[in-house]
Amino acid sequence: MTSPLFETIFLEEGTERLPFTQKVLSRLPGVPVERVDSSADIEERLARTQTDVFGAGKRQLLLSRFRGEFLKKCPGISPGMVCCNYYVVNLIKNCIYDCSYCFLQDFLKNNPVLTAFANPEDLVTELETVFREHPNRSFRVGTGELTDSLALEDVLPYSEVLVPLFNRYSNAVLELKTKSDCVDPLLALPDAKNVIVSWSLNPPVVAELEEKGTPSTHARLTAAKKCFEAGFKIGFHLDPIILHPGWEQAYQKLVDDLFSAVPPDGIEWISLGSFRYRRGLKTVIKERHPETRLFHAEHVPAEDGKFRYLRPLRQEAYDTLRKMIQKKSEAVSVYMCMESKEVWEGVTGHTPRADKKLDVFFDL
Ligand code: SF4
Repeated sequence: MTSPLFETIFLEEGTERLPFTQKVLSRLPGVPVERVDSSADIEERLARTQTDVFGAGKRQLLLSRFRGEFLKKCPGISPGMVCCNYYVVNLIKNCIYDCSYCFLQDFLKNNPVLTAFANPEDLVTELETVFREHPNRSFRVGTGELTDSLALEDVLPYSEVLVPLFNRYSNAVLELKTKSDCVDPLLALPDAKNVIVSWSLNPPVVAELEEKGTPSTHARLTAAKKCFEAGFKIGFHLDPIILHPGWEQAYQKLVDDLFSAVPPDGIEWISLGSFRYRRGLKTVIKERHPETRLFHAEHVPAEDGKFRYLRPLRQEAYDTLRKMIQKKSEAVSVYMCMESKEVWEGVTGHTPRADKKLDVFFDL
């Protein structure tokens, strides 16, 4: 039987005998396996045979060995934007989901093959060294920069390596950012203390059209509830906020559903971010997702070159959502992702640098 996830598993030289590779192969029985020298071989083949090369790249799995340093400072800081102290680790590149607004469509257009690094033991060694060498520094580390952190957890079991590692260090927190409902592997782990699982959410009407292949909003909230009940810390990203006719009612219902799933004292934070994109992405989105409603409103370039809704519209959206959340709970921290100082000031009345809670606010 062929896995519905992947058409082929490609093994780069040197990965065949790694324990992680063996685990992955045992979880994908029946999927053809091929040896390759590099991802270029697969990309060249896809370019010859496919019209949607990026989409086709999501259906190939390349197991590779990562040879550099895994831990990076969050690259999210752009001129004029507010970002926070955050680190990223990329164990997977590309994603099985296909959100219309996903920046990977442009960012990975030249190397779209879904790639997973099969040497997580090297990551463990690196992180242990860094965490030990800097006992007074806090490390907030996310794995969801270039993928969904949990969508492939059944097949690529990274959490069983990462979660125990982070639980050994009081100066480290792991954030798993997802739209998935694949939480059973997490629930099977004994300790949840240094892990935040965070869900990106949109109202069902947006998710159904713009977030192809993802579990429903309801399924994500059910997964969040399970993780909360198992003792995990929970975060939510209402991001990207997409303005559409009736957005206020749709987001109000989403906020209601969110608090029905997880009570305020179980929520670490809720982040807000409006739809944004770099110039090159618009053409790709229109080509790959002709049915999208993302461009029904006007967008203008900001200081960092990214296009966004006009500032008054963004400010109104943030203000409205913030009030909806604060009506449910004054205690839940709300922050704005990748926003300018002016917008922060307009919505919150102060700059983020003056906010005592800034150290718990971070963005990806
Ligand atoms: S879940 Fe995230 S990484 Fe995956 S397609 Fe959607 S936006 Fe991209």
